[in-house]
Amino acid sequence: MEKRNEKIGLSAHSLNIFNECPKCFYLSVKEGFSRPRGPMPSIATGIDSLIKEYFEFYRKKEKLPPFLIGKIEGKLISTLKKTYYYDIEENKNYYLWGRLDEIIQTPEGFYVPLDHKTRASLPPKGDPHHAYQFQLGIYSLLLKKENKGNEVDFGYLVYYYPEKSMTDYEADKIRNIINFNFEVKKVELDIKYIKTIIKDAIKCLDKNMVPERGPNCEYCDWVENIKIYYFEKEEKKEREKLEKVDLNKEEIEFPEGKLF
Ligand code: SF4
Repeated sequence: MEKRNEKIGLSAHSLNIFNECPKCFYLSVKEGFSRPRGPMPSIATGIDSLIKEYFEFYRKKEKLPPFLIGKIEGKLISTLKKTYYYDIEENKNYYLWGRLDEIIQTPEGFYVPLDHKTRASLPPKGDPHHAYQFQLGIYSLLLKKENKGNEVDFGYLVYYYPEKSMTDYEADKIRNIINFNFEVKKVELDIKYIKTIIKDAIKCLDKNMVPERGPNCEYCDWVENIKIYYFEKEEKKEREKLEKVDLNKEEIEFPEGKLF
């Protein structure tokens, strides 16, 4: 759990967990029991750091990366901070924090969040995944100070996905087989809705009571099934032990089965 001056820090990640399951959110923020994450595929991290390096190159040149020209209006901000913070006015015990992938400064001078997303294929048409939209909304709040109190109601997602562009698979051309394409999506943000979720999440933490679990979660189903399995196993063991004791008792009372 992130803490600053005894205040509790909430991130887009933890609040997205609240959206999925208040119980998991409560257990991780309040009690420090985070969901097991499992091994992370390092390919996504590798691509991510390459993209960031590429953006840094153009930041130094004070230019927008060429592939974004015509798709995004503005430029990269000159210095990207490691972490951004937002104090929650309604409740001084909490704050928001986050590490933004990138920030675009619009021609009007507003700071707009941009997030890189790697995926397996072309993103579907229409609204992006709810979690991505929510994440950008949190990032917009994190930029409120930079935007002099204004709340920007849009952000950008840039998807990167592998695309086949060759018909020739000769072994010596392996380096050129995997090519990445990209897609830029401008995402409208409902900041009022984002604030309602933050309020509900804080209410949940302040209740000091583990809330109900969310629906459709394989983790808790798994834990429940394991509990039932072990409970039944232990019960069976206990029953067998008792039956054995009864048999021994009979043997002592009637040695070799003789009554006299
Ligand atoms: S239902 Fe899933 S998400 Fe919720 S507490 Fe259980 S493990 Fe966590």
